[in-house]
This record gives sequence, structure tokens and C-alpha cells, in this order.
Amino acid sequence: MTIAPLTTGSSDGLDEKVLAVYDTILRRNPGELEFHQASHEVLETLGPVVAKHPEYVEAKLLERICEPERQIIFRVPWADDSGEVHVNRGFRVEFNSALGPYKGGLRFHPSVNLGIVKFLGFEQVFKNAVTGMPIGGGKGGADFDPRGRSDREIMRFCQSFMTELHRHLGEHTDVPAGDIGVGQRELGYLFGQYKRITNRYESGVLTGKGLTWGGARVRREATGYGCAYFVQEMLAARGSSLEGSDVVVSGAGNVAIYAVEKIAQLGGRVVAVSDSSGYVHDAAGIDLDLLKEVKEIERERIEVYAQRRGRGATFVADGSVWDVPCRVALPCATQNELTERDALRLIEGGVVAVGEGANMPCTPEAVRAFRAAGVLFAPGKAANAGGVATSALEMQQNASRDSWTFEHSEQRLQEIVQEMHAACCATAEEYGAPGDYVVGANITGFVRVADAMLAHGLI
Ligand code: NDP
Repeated sequence: MTIAPLTTGSSDGLDEKVLAVYDTILRRNPGELEFHQASHEVLETLGPVVAKHPEYVEAKLLERICEPERQIIFRVPWADDSGEVHVNRGFRVEFNSALGPYKGGLRFHPSVNLGIVKFLGFEQVFKNAVTGMPIGGGKGGADFDPRGRSDREIMRFCQSFMTELHRHLGEHTDVPAGDIGVGQRELGYLFGQYKRITNRYESGVLTGKGLTWGGARVRREATGYGCAYFVQEMLAARGSSLEGSDVVVSGAGNVAIYAVEKIAQLGGRVVAVSDSSGYVHDAAGIDLDLLKEVKEIERERIEVYAQRRGRGATFVADGSVWDVPCRVALPCATQNELTERDALRLIEGGVVAVGEGANMPCTPEAVRAFRAAGVLFAPGKAANAGGVATSALEMQQNASRDSWTFEHSEQRLQEIVQEMHAACCATAEEYGAPGDYVVGANITGFVRVADAMLAHGLI
């Protein structure tokens, strides 16, 4: 999988009133290219909002929303199994708490830096607002590579990471969850260390927990399921459905696996998945049990899926999964993984809908190509918000010491996705861009946060 090289600095498409805000972002956050990209993508849709709401301009709401409330950077020392000492860098960006405690995942990946955490935190603020749940936005992580590490090394790293981070967390303050490289195993070690240091069984301090220690049903599935549901809603609004559609999903992690599962339940057929080593094309439809066995249980490379599946499934090393033609594309791996070239190939191959399961997986050029071609395009702020919405449901269950059934939890998720879809459509219509989900999600999220900040005074 090729990650697109980043460029920055262009103020193309920005309304006069927001230009100065973007210039300040560039000046104040040098070298943070992903953050520049994410903020540009929001700011370029806010022209009609500032025109309609002079009170936002007067209160400098844009400037305040683009500046994190707090950024924490810390040392994470740990020893590997041979006793060698390593030093990683940990981050937590507490971006905005206007709507509730900071909420957003932790990412462990060697590429993690302040710009990436800040872009993810910024996206999270608007996404969380779109869900309609009482949660603010934040994000964190470390430049630690969990791949190839033993369970004990992972545990020692998580314990060292939490030894510093715990002082900034709390169920009413800041509530992390998982993200790339942080699944239930890591969350278990993080929660255990938090509990030990604080001497409190504070279930609501982390989400994505195991079912026997405060976790919620459907949280594991929620991001992938939510993405599939959102695409189903978009298609239904056009009188269509997923029935009989070939679907391509990138990635083979938490989001991708449960997107594959829900797409199959909704009548689609996933014909390709990937990881950072390449992709598998399986025209008969991905065998979900085999995919889970290889990726969730054995933590193997995706090539092993093709080897075990036998005839019909092919592995393409280092290839782009977007070369496989499909009707629906769900990028579920990482940022900037789907370029303009990929978008044009997908359009040529007949794609009608794209749902961003990952955060900012499509480059700005790819998004422009999809929108120009009339492809239904669901940005991550709506398409993958089912995950964090279900985290808010987990916090709700923790607060009431309750545990809901799978059916009830899934029904709540589906209702939330339908409400998000309706809110995006209504907002896009109100601001003169009917059917544009990027405008719909950005403005829905922005207005909810901005109104709360106005009410709270100059803080
Ligand atoms: P996982 O770690 O479970 O899986 C990530 C998948 O993407 C793996 O298949 C991985 O391949 C691939 N990948 C990651 N980084 C790269 C890279 N730089 N180049 C190529 N492939 C890469 O993560 P999740 O499924 O949890 O997260 C996937 C995306 O979804 C992220 O953008 C995340 O921010 C977003 N997201 C996740 C949510 C959640 O609830 N988990 C909620 C909302 C958004 P390999 O194993 O080979 O590295």
C-alpha cells in the first residue's frame, strides 16, 4: 500500500474570512502536514457558516476551535525481553471539551508524531459532535511499533505509557479508546495499570474494554458496522442498496474486519482486503472466519489468507487494493491511502459509493475526483463515527453499572447512524449543497461545538 506524499501551504478554496485562520495554523504548527490537511478540509466548507453567523467571527470561534485546549508530550521508557532499554514518545492532545470529556483513541505505530495526533484529535472533535453524544474530542498514542513484540513487551510498554498518562485521564475528564495498534489486549494492560495506580475501578475511563471487565457489546464491531450502515443509508437515499454489490475494503484490522462482516449481512460481497504488505483478491467473496483466524487470532500477514483459501484467492504483494474494480469502496486502513490515481481507477471501474472507515484515508485530490464524478462520498467524520458513538454508549452503561444485550446495542448504533445521516443531509441542504456529505458532516459538527463554546463564554 502506498501512502501519498503530503503537500501543504495552499489556501485554495478558502473563503476570505477563514484565510487568516489557516495562515495562523500553518505558522503555529510548522511541519504538521496532516494537521494542515485536516484543518484545510474543514475550513474550506465553512465559508457559508461564517457568512450566516457573524457572532462566530466576532467571538473568534474558528481560531479557538483550531487550537487544542492542551497538548501533552511525554517520555515512555521500557525494557524489551533481552533487557535492552528503549525510549518512545507518548502524546495526548486534548482538543476540545465543549460537549463533554475529551474522547478519542490511542494509536501505537512508528509513524505517530504530534502532527498526526493533532489531525486525528481535530477530526475527532467534529465527528464526536456529529454523533449527537455528549463527548468532546481528543487523541493520543506513541511512536511505538507493536509488530513483532512479545505479549510481555507490549504489557511493559502499556504500563510505562499509562504511568504518565493516568494523571491526565478520568471518566469526566479524558476517556481514551483503541486505534491502530491498540486493541483489547493493549486496553487491558492500560486499564490494569490505571486501576493499580489510582486504586479505583473507574470503568468509564477507557472504552473498548473486554466484556468481562466493563466493556460493551458491539463496541468491537461498531466502527466497521457503522461504516457499512452509513453507506447503506446513502444508497437507500438514492433508491439503491448494497444487495449484490462487489465491495473492496482496505486494511484487515478492527475496522476492516467488521465492515466485511456487516457488508456480507447486508447483501454485498467483499472481494478484496489488504494490509501493509499487499492485498488479497478473492472474487468468490472473502471468507470471514478465515480472515478473523488469520488476522485477529494469529496476527499473521494477509498473504496467509490467500495460501489457506487456495484456488481463486490471489495475493498481490505491495499492490494497490484499489486496482480491484467494485461498486462500493471502503478505505479502512490509514490516512492518505487512497490517492487521486486510485480514485480515477475506481470511477473507471464503476464505483458508486465510498465510505471512509479510516480517518482521512482519501487524499484531497481523491475526494475532489469522487465528488466531481457524482460518487456518493461519506467522510470519516460520519462514516466511521459509529465506533465512538458506541464508546459513548459504553460510558453510559459504565455510569449506570448496566450491560445491554447485543441486539439492543446494535439497534442503538443503527439509530445513531440513521440520525447522523439525516443530520448531514439536512445541513447540506440548508447550506446550499444538497447531497454533499462532506459539507453536511463538517458544518453539523462545527455548529454544535461552536454554539456550546459561545454559551461557555471566552474560555
Ligand atoms: P488496526 O490496527 O486494527 O488495523 C489497521 C489496518 O490498517 C491493518 O491492516 C494495517 O496493516 C493497516 N495499516 C495501518 N497503517 C498502515 C500504513 N501506514 N500503511 C499501510 N497499511 C496500514 O486499526 P483499526 O482498524 O482500529 O483502525 C483503522 C483506521 O480506522 C485508522 O485510520 C483509525 O484511525 C480509524 N478508526 C478506528 C476506529 C476504531 O474503533 N478502531 C474508530 C474510528 C476510526 P498492518 O497490520 O500490515 O500494519
